[in-house]
Amino acid sequence: MSKRKETNFIVVHCSDTRANQCITFEDIKRWHMMERAFLDIGYHWVIERDGSVKQGRPIDNWGAHVKCHNHESVGICLVGGLGQNNQPDDNFTSDQKRMLKFLVAGHQALYPNAVVHGHHHFSKVKTCPNFDVHYWLRQEGLLGGKQ
Ligand SMILES: [Zn+2]
Repeated sequence: MSKRKETNFIVVHCSDTRANQCITFEDIKRWHMMERAFLDIGYHWVIERDGSVKQGRPIDNWGAHVKCHNHESVGICLVGGLGQNNQPDDNFTSDQKRMLKFLVAGHQALYPNAVVHGHHHFSKVKTCPNFDVHYWLRQEGLLGGKQ
């Protein structure tokens, strides 16, 4: 797989699954490889419901998570985001949000020029990750650099 030459974006995703579905990193990896014929899971990181952080692709490789921007971004996916009636729902656990903060801060340190966006920022037909990433960044004090 190709190494990225630049990292301009950190993109936050959700798995678009219900909170009670017990979806794991391995489930998402299987979907990506079996159903979409990817060589590996598309994301660089997955944060499971209990806050466990699982590494997908090596962080300096291309991902497969955001159309037209895979060559210049890191992808982080939180498991959940879908309500009981299959509506978009910010139902992520506090453990997940805490680990997201940790990962985002770490990537901002590694890639000082990278801007953090939710997936929907790049695709207006999507709502992923089903919460306002920019508002969350402000709340967490993670704005800085080019953000
Ligand atoms: Zn997404």
